[in-house]
Amino acid sequence: MIDRAQLKSETQALGLALSDLQLEMFDAYAEMLVETNKKFNLTAIKNPDEIVTKHFVDSLTVFTAVDIPAESSVIDIGTGAGFPGLPMLIYDSSLNITLLDSTGKKLDFVQNVADELGLRARVVHGRAEEFGRGEYREKFDFAVSRAVASLNVLCEYCLPFVRQGGAFIALKGSKAEDELSHSRTAVKTLGGKFICAKELMLADEQTRNLVIIEKAAPTPPKYPRASAQISKKPL
Ligand code: SAH
Repeated sequence: MIDRAQLKSETQALGLALSDLQLEMFDAYAEMLVETNKKFNLTAIKNPDEIVTKHFVDSLTVFTAVDIPAESSVIDIGTGAGFPGLPMLIYDSSLNITLLDSTGKKLDFVQNVADELGLRARVVHGRAEEFGRGEYREKFDFAVSRAVASLNVLCEYCLPFVRQGGAFIALKGSKAEDELSHSRTAVKTLGGKFICAKELMLADEQTRNLVIIEKAAPTPPKYPRASAQISKKPL
């Protein structure tokens, strides 16, 4: 299905090595993605070359942002068809990954992929702003998220899950500077500390930014607020 040499060289360019088994797992994942996409809309990216760069390699860029030790607990907020969480788990199967999304159908797909590849992931159906008040609050070493909301809103979804000393990593496109300047209040209010944005370019010649926000203090109990308030009065 995918060009394994392409996946291997594009990940090598990030300084990451994939074994033959991992390449095979990505191939099976792509196959399931393309097949399931025929039945319902999982992703707009359907071409195998694009799946490699824009889904798989893009997801793996997280590992170039911060050191993610083996067995770390990671929550992927709004994982959709599994990005970036599932590629992260293929790369390091020791990670304790929780994949959260509000769309059950997408999670069925994600669970199928994990089962098919023999990977252990916790799949959770719900909204970030509700689960961020419950048992998962401040329980994770890392929260990650891609293509879910603007950075200020995303901070309110994601930072409540991160333990003090952990970090939230947002995978963003080329316009991260604008989003960053509009997120300073949100970061501070939610107990975050903005560390840096790391810019990189992938094989599609489009710029990515990895925004790293450290959890410096507990999130005040009033956050995350209800969905309506978050959208009406974003921090
Ligand atoms: N991260 C994936 C999917 C992006 S699409 C990728 O990069 O390809 C955005 C996803 O976020 C959708 O699957 C949607 O169901 C989910 N989502 C949006 N708002 C959410 C919320 N508040 N809580 C949980 N999931 C949410």
